[in-house]
Amino acid sequence: MRKITFLGSGAAPGVPSLCCGFGDCDPHNPKNIRTRTSTYLDYNGVRLLIDTSPDLRLQLIQNNIRSLDGVLYTHVHADHLHGIDELREINRITGQSLNYYATEFSNSHIEERFSYLIAQKQKSCDVVRRPSLISNLITVNQPFFIKGLKITPLKLLGHNIESVGYAFNDGELVYIADFKTLDDSVFGMIKRKPALLVMPLTTPYGQQFHAGLDEVTAYIEQIKPERAVLNHMASECDYEAVRASTPANTEPAYDNLSLEF
Ligand SMILES: [Zn+2]
Repeated sequence: MRKITFLGSGAAPGVPSLCCGFGDCDPHNPKNIRTRTSTYLDYNGVRLLIDTSPDLRLQLIQNNIRSLDGVLYTHVHADHLHGIDELREINRITGQSLNYYATEFSNSHIEERFSYLIAQKQKSCDVVRRPSLISNLITVNQPFFIKGLKITPLKLLGHNIESVGYAFNDGELVYIADFKTLDDSVFGMIKRKPALLVMPLTTPYGQQFHAGLDEVTAYIEQIKPERAVLNHMASECDYEAVRASTPANTEPAYDNLSLEF
């Protein structure tokens, strides 16, 4: 079974946000209430978390996620990283250290901001007293394996900090994080028709460091997945309005949307 759960479908401020409330979103539609982006995968029994949003505590509780085989980081903006401390509960439940995967650039920021979380020299620490994470460095376009699952980091361009996506099983699942354009190498790493493509929208009209709806849908047409889901949506993205303006194979995510692919 391959199953993805969108724990949080919102951009950095969440919806509603302190500044803008529901913005352009219909406040009566519960699908417009969005926590920040984390995604859970159960990939034929390999259980992975993509990013640790500041809302991770309640996301893990609501979905009864008590154990993980690894955490993948896309980039180190606060809305994707700063829930990392919540992983201490996974440490406590399992009594074991937890592996996370990040590029050298991202890992340098993680170790700088959260040095107290990192296990020393690949040795597990006293996980009851302190969280214990083990860093694993990854490189774009160089596949690595977690419990036999092939994962290839993808090179994303144009965000205002280094950002990577992931192709699972040569593109059976493709997960794109914050980006403006895709490096040409991304298309070479997707070696099959994706069953599912996940892309961030942020706002319909796009911004300097974020692709908008036209750019995102153009990439979906180019990659040609069986199904595409948009996440990372700010208060400019009303659920029904986005759904009405996307192709038939594409839908917006909402918090706790879970689907098999
Ligand atoms: Zn970002």
